Amino acid sequence: MGKFLTSRSEDYSQWYNELVVKAGLAEQSVVRGCMVIKPYGYAIWEKIQRQLDDMFKQTGHVNAYFPLLIPKSFFSKEADHVEGFAKECAVVTHYRLKNDPNGGGVVVDPAAKLEEEYIIRPTSETIIWNTYKNWIQSYRDLPILCNQWANVMRWEMRTRMFLRTAEFLWQEGHTAHATKEEALEEANKMVRVYADFAQNWMAVPVIMGSKSESERFAGALETFTIEALMQDGKALQAGTSHFLGQNFAKAFDVQFTNAEGKLEYVWATSWGVSTRLMGALIMAHSDDNGLVLPPKLAPLQVVIVPIYKGAEGLKKISDKVQGLIEKLRAKGISVKYDDRDTQKPGWKFADYELKGVPVRLAMGERDLENGTIEVARRDTLTKETLPLEGIVGHIEKLLEDIQENIYKKALDFRNSMITKVDSYDEFKNLLESKGGFFLCHWDGTAETEEKIKADTKATIRCIPFDSPEEEGKDMVTGKPSHRRVLIAKAY
Ligand code: AMP
Repeated sequence: MGKFLTSRSEDYSQWYNELVVKAGLAEQSVVRGCMVIKPYGYAIWEKIQRQLDDMFKQTGHVNAYFPLLIPKSFFSKEADHVEGFAKECAVVTHYRLKNDPNGGGVVVDPAAKLEEEYIIRPTSETIIWNTYKNWIQSYRDLPILCNQWANVMRWEMRTRMFLRTAEFLWQEGHTAHATKEEALEEANKMVRVYADFAQNWMAVPVIMGSKSESERFAGALETFTIEALMQDGKALQAGTSHFLGQNFAKAFDVQFTNAEGKLEYVWATSWGVSTRLMGALIMAHSDDNGLVLPPKLAPLQVVIVPIYKGAEGLKKISDKVQGLIEKLRAKGISVKYDDRDTQKPGWKFADYELKGVPVRLAMGERDLENGTIEVARRDTLTKETLPLEGIVGHIEKLLEDIQENIYKKALDFRNSMITKVDSYDEFKNLLESKGGFFLCHWDGTAETEEKIKADTKATIRCIPFDSPEEEGKDMVTGKPSHRRVLIAKAY
């Protein structure tokens, strides 16, 4: 069978771009930095959304919706926030077009200039905290645990489909609390929800930790992150949860009377994951034949392909397969029976491989005689012929096995790519020859962090939650350090 894709070893980046397009997930649009998410890609995103939304509801959150446009003046109210986002803001300046009297087509009507310009939201803290001001008077109004599903816009200079786009889809949780402890607990809880989702649904192992000061969200006192490793040895920040302290409450004057009747500023968190998760999913598992999807997020879990000669042959197989389809659906398994006569079975096999359908069943005339069916799994590319009797239970179990196997494979790879190093030279060598995550001692200063980045392009991904206390010396400066941090080149 001819190969559809550039191989990963040949050109990983090219492989990714081709895969996204050829598997029908997304394509570049005419709009700079913005992609079109195609139906198959969107079906995966919907599954991601549905599960995450359930998890947010289970942890006590509700959904709400705030405006896309944010008055420009709101942005300047929180100094760090405006500094962090100013460089990537799209601004709405006019509200009307008109026909150019000189025949230049449609132009912006200068008479329709907005008195106050709007920013297309790059994130919604400012408009939400301006709204929370009206929702919160007393401690009885707290906590507020809202989430919003929305699109946002950040004028990114270097874009890549799903991983970094100018417009992206995401969810942003914004919570308000009476105490610092409660807000910190919330930020911690949500990064754990993200880790749970990444590992148990996406089958992507992640390392949880805190960001260093220079990598924090603009306006946050603490940023928690989940960091995943892609097959090319580069890290991907897959989700973040921020403890915002009282910064936004102070900027928007959101105070409440506590149980003792005293006025206090409200404590805040925000947390988000985006369509970048699609990129993580694709890059973490897929191979040179195409996508490999974890069964829990695959839009289609099982496909059945008949192998037949003539209309009569097809009818016999279709009759036999009908009962099986019903039984699988009754178990909540999504199944497609592909009896199109416009494509050959071999073409269909390759196409479902490219699309990452976890299980492919094929039934031919010999199977009819023998009461068997061919079962192929996408993750290992292995196949076997099994009796039809008991096949539903087998497939149910197989989908679980595939989910587990994909996770284990990604975990083994990730673990094999974590290296402890103590010398800067060794770090630089291994970063180039092997890549992956490095656990190193760091003196805690922004200068050293900056030097590592300038020398090698690698960044401190996080200070892992589970990094034990350990006395050591910073690999660059030799100054004392009390625990190792996680360093990698990242997307
Ligand atoms: P932030 O509000 O900056 O903490 O971003 C929340 C999450 O959105 C991050 O953890 C990223 O996974 C994701 N994200 C940030 N920028 C982009 C982008 N340009 N395209 C896609 N996802 C993004």
